[in-house]
Amino acid sequence: MRTAAQYFESLRARKLELWVDGERCESPVDHPKVRPAMNAIAATFAIAHDDRWRGLATAHSDLIGGPVNRFCHLFVEAEDLVRKIEVQRVLGRLTGTCFQRCVGMDGINALFIATHGRAGHARFVEWLRGVQERDDVLNGAMTDPKGDRSKRPGEQPDAYLRVVDRRPDGIVIRGAKVHQTGAANSHHILVMPGQALREGEEDFAVACALPVDADGVRMVLGRQPSDDRRGGPDAGNARFGGQECVVLFDDVFVPTERVFLDGDIEACALLVDAFAGFHRASYGGCKPGNLDVLIGAADLVTREHGVRRASHVRDKLVEMAHLTETVHGVGLAASEKSTRDASGVWRVDPVLANVCKHNVTRIPYEVVRLAEDLAGGAMATLPSLADRDHAELAEALAPIYGSEARAKALRLLESMAYGAGSVPFRIECMHGAGSPQAQRIVLERTLDWDAKVARARVLAGLDADDALGELE
Ligand code: SF4
Ligand code: FE
Repeated sequence: MRTAAQYFESLRARKLELWVDGERCESPVDHPKVRPAMNAIAATFAIAHDDRWRGLATAHSDLIGGPVNRFCHLFVEAEDLVRKIEVQRVLGRLTGTCFQRCVGMDGINALFIATHGRAGHARFVEWLRGVQERDDVLNGAMTDPKGDRSKRPGEQPDAYLRVVDRRPDGIVIRGAKVHQTGAANSHHILVMPGQALREGEEDFAVACALPVDADGVRMVLGRQPSDDRRGGPDAGNARFGGQECVVLFDDVFVPTERVFLDGDIEACALLVDAFAGFHRASYGGCKPGNLDVLIGAADLVTREHGVRRASHVRDKLVEMAHLTETVHGVGLAASEKSTRDASGVWRVDPVLANVCKHNVTRIPYEVVRLAEDLAGGAMATLPSLADRDHAELAEALAPIYGSEARAKALRLLESMAYGAGSVPFRIECMHGAGSPQAQRIVLERTLDWDAKVARARVLAGLDADDALGELE
């Protein structure tokens, strides 16, 4: 398994085409807007070599007959899904942001299920074996630009990644993927369809893998609010950050051995469904971890303000913690109630996974509201810490900033609430793993409404009680 240092070394060996603010970025590892997100991924490697977390962060893989980092592992037992949520909570708390490797982890599991019994399965397993041996980072590339949402992919092909040529030795893909978490920090792109497709849309039904620096792949870093502060005194999160990129595919050749699904509509539907379940439960791990940090920062400010023992402050902090554990509890429950798929990989409970993510589209917003309430207006109005540290201003400004702890906790809160830290935290809470309506659609489709009506009819005295029969 890679160490954090080996991870950075491996990133330097890539010939990635990355664009940042209108310029080609020659050394992503050293770029102040890119590095914090790499640091967050590095944490996933570091904990695998640390006695405190090794048990959670690693697993035994039958595929390679040895230990693997959990982020490359298949969910071969129900416990793997529970440990996933637990390690995500740990990393969410250690980094205070998105550590980016879960889309790849959830993606390999969904693809294992979707390719099972199909021609591409052996090719996929062979590729996965290499990923596990090297401990690679995967950019799980699902979301297409989508353009006019009322139109199907065939009516606006440029808005969807697709196969534009099929050759004896492979395929050629064209298009883009957007909101690509951690793409510039990865070793491989795992292309998957972002939605269920219909007959006639076979060219869009493609799942394949390619190196991030394959010919024709270009990445463009997404902007985040206040990202110019990164690396400076007002960064908020002093070490870590998230990352989203646009990934452009300009007629990229993918050899047959890396093509796992091509034109199989049914398998792609299975893939999208399995992935959605996995990733919606994942948010019950990472987001509570992020919320731990937010609560900690709000708590710290109240201590510095001398109000920590006030009853309304204690009550608000308890409410924030209660909401956080509610999200975590549903993520764990979705994993505890998992079932074994025919492929051998375990799948989360679809209702609870969707409830988990749906809660995530609401609850963190309420926790942020309470943090803002506790912190006061200074979390948004404090001048730069560079002003505080300037010789001409330091003395006069000292009482404005208060202690170092107060000033930095306020900056951290600011970043998570609406600075650079809010992209991998709040906005991702809303739209990552599917926007709120996507979860409601699954819930409506999955729940057994007739069973609820049937029981209501019995208890209303309309029908006989066949379930319990005579009680005496
Ligand atoms: Fe992992 Fe959470 Fe980031 Fe998704 S949002 S990649 S689950 S840390
Ligand atoms: Fe995400």
